[in-house]
Amino acid sequence: MRPTATTRVAAVVGDPVRHSLSPVLHNAAFVESGADWVFVALEVAADDGHRVLDAVRVLGVDGLAVTTPHKEIVAAGVDDVDPAAAALGSVNTVVRRADGSLFGASTDGAGFVASLTAAGVDVRGLVVAVLGAGAAARSVIVALAGAGAAEVAVVNRTPAAAERAADLAAVARVGTFADLVPADVVVNATSIGMGNTAMPCDPDLLRPGHVVADLVYHPLHTALLIEAERRGARVVDGLGMLVHQAALQQRWWTGSDPDVSVMRAAADAELARRAATGA
Ligand code: NAP
Repeated sequence: MRPTATTRVAAVVGDPVRHSLSPVLHNAAFVESGADWVFVALEVAADDGHRVLDAVRVLGVDGLAVTTPHKEIVAAGVDDVDPAAAALGSVNTVVRRADGSLFGASTDGAGFVASLTAAGVDVRGLVVAVLGAGAAARSVIVALAGAGAAEVAVVNRTPAAAERAADLAAVARVGTFADLVPADVVVNATSIGMGNTAMPCDPDLLRPGHVVADLVYHPLHTALLIEAERRGARVVDGLGMLVHQAALQQRWWTGSDPDVSVMRAAADAELARRAATGA
């Protein structure tokens, strides 16, 4: 459907944002469903983050995705937020309601849990070891606790960050690499392995029976996932989280669930195109 004067607009704001997969994911779903929406990427410098919500109001943007470095300042400016965003002090999704008020949500962690569910992994009652304690790890910890994980061990290079992250959920605690062995699920939420073949842990800690999930999706088959598969573990790649968090954003904006498989296929095709062209 070609945009017309009544087409509704959704956008991602961030800096950098020109390599974002969000336009590809969202527009693929809008085209497939016939929704009269279009999604664009808008580069907004860090210093202008405080003006983003005014722009949303003035321009009538109906759906906003928010990425680094604006997630916290936007969270502080919306009228109300969902529980995950409240816990994290960060939003990645803004909805403009009919009365003009702005609602903020955080779909990253829920998207991660949804990617596990889609891979046949129900986290209720499971023991999880999370490597990392940054923004992505924090959203994953909150969502795992909300979804009923029995225990979450947070393993991070900087102990103070691990403590702050573990404080987000009653089932979470600071852990060590020894916590990987008995865990049901091992999650790499560090940036180790992004764009290279570095490993976030000793591969010999991985075993059959583990579910090993990597948030890193560039490359899609990270060294961690390759080593985990070699040792008989089940693996879940990071593109699943990206796609499912985007699907949850569309639910907030449009009230409908998009076809996740269409979004995934579009993301896979775009990554393959970039790999082939060096883009
Ligand atoms: P972040 O806030 O900067 O956190 C980075 C984390 O990685 C911290 O825990 C940091 O430990 C750890 N780390 C980085 N380099 C390390 C090293 N050399 N050795 C040990 N630990 C190291 O980043 P983020 O936003 O959480 O993102 C983390 C990763 O998740 C990125 O690769 C990002 O692309 C990915 N991600 C994926 C999705 C998805 O949808 N799949 C969504 C969000 C993020 P310290 O605390 O010690 O610095």
